[in-house]
Amino acid sequence: MIGPVVKIDPATLPRRDNIHYLGGKSYQELPAYLVGWDLAMLPFARNESTRFISPTKTPEYLAAGKPVVSTSIRDVVRPYGQEGLVRIADTVAEFVSAVETAIKEDCPESGWLAKVDAFLKQISWDRTWSSMMQLIDSALATRLQRSMAVYLTSLEEQGTTDSLMDGFSTGINQSPGIVTRDFLFDYLVVGAGFSGSVIAERIASQLGKKVLVVDKRSHIGGNAYDHYDNSGILVHKYGPHIFHTNSRDVFEYLSQFTEWRSYEHRVLASVDGQLVPIPINLDTINKLYGLNLTSFQMPEFYASLAEPKEYIRTSEDVVVSKVGRELYEKFFRNYTRKQWGLDPSELDKSVISRIPTRTNRDDRYFTDTYQAMPLHGFTRMFETMLNHPNIKVMLNTDYREIQKAIPCREMVYTGPVDEFFDLRYGKLPYRSLEFKHETHNKPVFQPAPVVNYPNEQLYTRITEFKYLTGQEHAKTSIVYEFPRAEGDPYYPVPRPENAEIYKKYKALADATPGVYFVGRLATYKYYNMDQCVAQALTVYKQISVKQQVATVGGCL
Ligand SMILES: Cc1cc2nc3c(=O)[nH]c(=O)nc-3n(C[C@H](O)[C@H](O)[C@H](O)COP(=O)(O)OP(=O)(O)OC[C@H]3O[C@@H](n4cnc5c(N)ncnc54)[C@H](O)[C@@H]3O)c2cc1C
Repeated sequence: MIGPVVKIDPATLPRRDNIHYLGGKSYQELPAYLVGWDLAMLPFARNESTRFISPTKTPEYLAAGKPVVSTSIRDVVRPYGQEGLVRIADTVAEFVSAVETAIKEDCPESGWLAKVDAFLKQISWDRTWSSMMQLIDSALATRLQRSMAVYLTSLEEQGTTDSLMDGFSTGINQSPGIVTRDFLFDYLVVGAGFSGSVIAERIASQLGKKVLVVDKRSHIGGNAYDHYDNSGILVHKYGPHIFHTNSRDVFEYLSQFTEWRSYEHRVLASVDGQLVPIPINLDTINKLYGLNLTSFQMPEFYASLAEPKEYIRTSEDVVVSKVGRELYEKFFRNYTRKQWGLDPSELDKSVISRIPTRTNRDDRYFTDTYQAMPLHGFTRMFETMLNHPNIKVMLNTDYREIQKAIPCREMVYTGPVDEFFDLRYGKLPYRSLEFKHETHNKPVFQPAPVVNYPNEQLYTRITEFKYLTGQEHAKTSIVYEFPRAEGDPYYPVPRPENAEIYKKYKALADATPGVYFVGRLATYKYYNMDQCVAQALTVYKQISVKQQVATVGGCL
């Protein structure tokens, strides 16, 4: 007898000179034992614990060509007993007699072995595996079709992006219910925001590879998505997005997909009952303090307010050392507390290290070389970008729903890195925002595109979209932003302990072959749109080099 003696007192086991208890053996050793047997026995006692067993040993013994005698265990009787492949016996006398007959009759010459082989062929592991895969495939395909139906409905409702799906439904309909195991797509791109869309566009247009872009939201464009609201005014669903960059490459790249409307952003801050320019400039100071300073006097004025610090560690240090405590309190402290839920003294210096102060009247919010808005909006730009025969887009779909049903060679992942790894090291904290959109029955709501409310309100700012888009309309639409601790992930919280958690996820990401982690969520960094584009173009270059190497090597 081979196998460990467990759950039974060894003293109660039958003892004879020719019965040997050899203990447990490795799987590799078993065939060597089996080859010496005349017959295999399944002498299970019949009781509550054996009532529902289904011994895999039965087909294994038969596959070894050994006659088998078993007690009447249900799953052995049916089918093996009924098919005449295994002899069933319950009493000692029956068992002895069955063993003697089996040794004589269950042999190749009697035709028994051919019957056994024919039966086993039907239940081979290969067949079992293939039936399981068919069931899994058809279950996933049903789910996929449901997602597509939702997507197509949303397309119909939007009536805009039909071309994005050209050919996709054809591919699936070729084999209803079953998605083939071949690669329908070379790349799965998770996320249709800037990061995902840029890479998808490059791979499709430059490498000629097939790309499936999946986004769990009902639209493309990620956080930069804009749309016409019920009054027909173009608004940014996730708060104002102003394009600005110093990178000529980025600007020229995007210019392939949109014309531009020149736009320089301006912001006022509501402080001490007045609306004053921000970043703080000559006019801000003169208005707030009732002064009449000139640009030449400004450096001296700032210096008189500044509280020099030996070490600049926190965001508070940054501001106070530059413009003093009073301006810090008026403009920065409460705004930061609202925005981050943390006092600037608790935030790393990097968070507001780039807050500029000006000595002249320049009231532009950004000073980048290129400042412009897509002429027909961001979403239109994304549509043009993704409108390529090699790109298909699926919306309302979490990539995990389709990843197995639609195998792709490689993945570009622009979702949250912690979610990719099932929050293995805990959740990476983000600050979120709640947006309250309103339309007012007048052409202008406020005197600037954005008004910041550092102190008195629960919201941080109000944006009036028509300034950004240049649209003319009798009404006007605005959005309030209320910072929140919970909600969609918008701003990574720049604390050292979070950087530590991210480091661990980054190590996992680096060790995950075939997946590129790109964008603000996958790299846990606050990126502006142009930075996302630049990063995506860089990652695309890596992909392209890898493709070239693989093509030369004949792999892909
Ligand atoms: C309020 C606000 C204002 C901003 N203003 C500006 C600005 O004025 N100028 C500027 O340059 N930048 C601005 N930004 C930054 C800008 O939004 C980002 O740089 C850019 O949108 C990030 O692009 P992305 O593709 O990396 O991420 P996202 O745009 O977030 O795209 C990621 C996409 O992945 C999808 N996704 C996530 N998980 C899954 C999943 N499991 N399955 C399928 N899909 C998934 C998400 O639905 C999302 O659509 C602002 C950001 C915010 C929050």
